[in-house]
Amino acid sequence: MEKISIAIDGPASSGKSTVAKILANDFHFIYVDTGAMYRAITFLAIKHHVAFSDELALAELTKKYPITFKQSRQGQLVFADDEEITQAIRQTDVTAAVSEVSAHSAVREELVEAQRQLAKAGGIVMDGRDIGTTVLPQAEVKIFLVASVEERAQRRYKENKEKGIQMDFESIKEAIAKRDYLDSHREVSPLVQAADAERIDTTGMSIDQVVTKIKEVITLKGF
Ligand code: C5P
Repeated sequence: MEKISIAIDGPASSGKSTVAKILANDFHFIYVDTGAMYRAITFLAIKHHVAFSDELALAELTKKYPITFKQSRQGQLVFADDEEITQAIRQTDVTAAVSEVSAHSAVREELVEAQRQLAKAGGIVMDGRDIGTTVLPQAEVKIFLVASVEERAQRRYKENKEKGIQMDFESIKEAIAKRDYLDSHREVSPLVQAADAERIDTTGMSIDQVVTKIKEVITLKGF
């Protein structure tokens, strides 16, 4: 497999990270979860009592506490400075605030630059909201995953239950719809399908079916 870049974008809980991890593993590519980076800044803001509206102080946090990923037997671990925050960034307080933090252009400038550095050598699967449009507009393969809000909430509800996180279905659905709205309506790099991205509606599809479909797209593009 040539060392191409694969950009996977889409709304919350559309299955991006699950399929991105499988593709990266199958192709021996690096996987970068850009949502984890925005979540990490949000976690740091909560920890250091920085207001979610304080754009410059938030951007400073990204400079002061570099976010890194490390592979482990339990999967990819996320660190801010030397602190392991893989689980902490999935908590509901971080999820509720991340769209406000990620809407600031100074925050995005810092993280987009870091993401481009990670992708420099190629052989990458990167997921997020603006990978195909802004971070890696030259990516050889661009996928835009969507699914109904009902199905995405169901997936998240099931996932939470397995992890022992208590949250009722309607609250999950509301939180997802709110994040969709904020991520799609912000001024800087909103969630939007790149003109040359392949749109896949995963409603009713299994993970295997989505992975197979993406591999077909990659093959059709000649890789
Ligand atoms: O992918 P995940 O749901 O973990 O992303 C968390 C949040 O980070 C998104 O709701 C969005 O606000 C922000 N994000 C972003 N741009 C990206 C990835 C994530 O704005 N490339």
